[in-house]
Amino acid sequence: NTRIVLASRPQGEPVPDNFRLEQHFIGLPGEGQVLLRNRYLSLDPYMRGRMNAGRSYAAPVEIGAVMDGGTVSEVLQSRHPDFRPGDLVLAHAGWQTHALVDGRTLKRKLDPAQLPLTTALGVYGMPGFTAYAGLHEIGKPQPGETLVVAAASGPVGATVGQIARLQGARAVGIAGGQAKRAYLEELGFDAALDHRAPDFAEQLRAACPDGIDIYFENVGGKVFDAVLPLLNDFARIPVCGLVAHYNDRQLPAGPDRLPLLMGQILSRHLSVRGFIQHDFISLYPQFLREMGAWLREKKIRWREDIVDGLENAPSALIGLLQGKNFGKLIVRL
Ligand code: NDP
Repeated sequence: NTRIVLASRPQGEPVPDNFRLEQHFIGLPGEGQVLLRNRYLSLDPYMRGRMNAGRSYAAPVEIGAVMDGGTVSEVLQSRHPDFRPGDLVLAHAGWQTHALVDGRTLKRKLDPAQLPLTTALGVYGMPGFTAYAGLHEIGKPQPGETLVVAAASGPVGATVGQIARLQGARAVGIAGGQAKRAYLEELGFDAALDHRAPDFAEQLRAACPDGIDIYFENVGGKVFDAVLPLLNDFARIPVCGLVAHYNDRQLPAGPDRLPLLMGQILSRHLSVRGFIQHDFISLYPQFLREMGAWLREKKIRWREDIVDGLENAPSALIGLLQGKNFGKLIVRL
């Protein structure tokens, strides 16, 4: 088994030396266990948080431990009654070529005749579910409302925008660079903006003539600053991620804008709610049904950025935090 472990904790941006590639012996499955060969590894922004020492919503990866991650895996050997060699499964088997796991931790079997296997890591998996659940439970788009989402070419943001449009809202997408902006237009976003444009805040104002009713928060930073003055009364803000800040080492220099934020929350009657997709896991069967139909009917589209080889996972994750990925980032093993 070839695997990548956390060698040291990053200070700010991760660097290749924070990771170590090593060989590791794996035994045979015990009672209830399954031996997996991992075919695809998902790289996700939350992995940056796991590299820190402090507990956020999930425990950190220990130094020397294999990096965490969702996988599409093939069963090689099984001592669990529900799985047989050759089965393809959605697992959480980490940054490694093989893994021995408890059969009960396997999330579901996959059928490549239904949808491409990689979708189980993106639009038809955790990120797609995040978009679906965050809108269903918090954003609640209504016909004619304006929704804004950034990181909009990624698996969460692209899905948020497309679901909002299916539900009759206007979707304004924000992404970094011209190519991603053009892709948002292709997906049908009503407006597509580049957050790197010098006049980005003015562009956002022009793209939201009726204000903003839902801001699906994926990034924080400058995007949130531009959104805040445009929020309508009773706007909803599902706080899903703050990827612009994951490498921060300290709070930004003043002025302290917390009173401004709290003042807006009060006077605009804002609902700001943080969530982790797992909070809404009871919606998962409904998500599989409804999203499965949307995907098969081509009402929702997706894009993937596939990198070959486990050894390239560290640089790909570093790039993800800088916006170098274009679509759902996946490593083919
Ligand atoms: P993406 O594939 O969209 O990758 C992250 C993207 O963030 C980059 O490609 C980049 O896109 C954008 N980005 C990075 N830095 C900045 C910045 N400074 N300003 C604006 N945009 C930036 O990721 P996902 O779709 O997987 O995840 C999107 C968000 O959802 C993340 O914050 C993630 O942590 C969160 N999330 C939360 C979950 C939950 O349960 N709460 C579950 C899953 C994801 P660009 O080039 O367009 O700037």
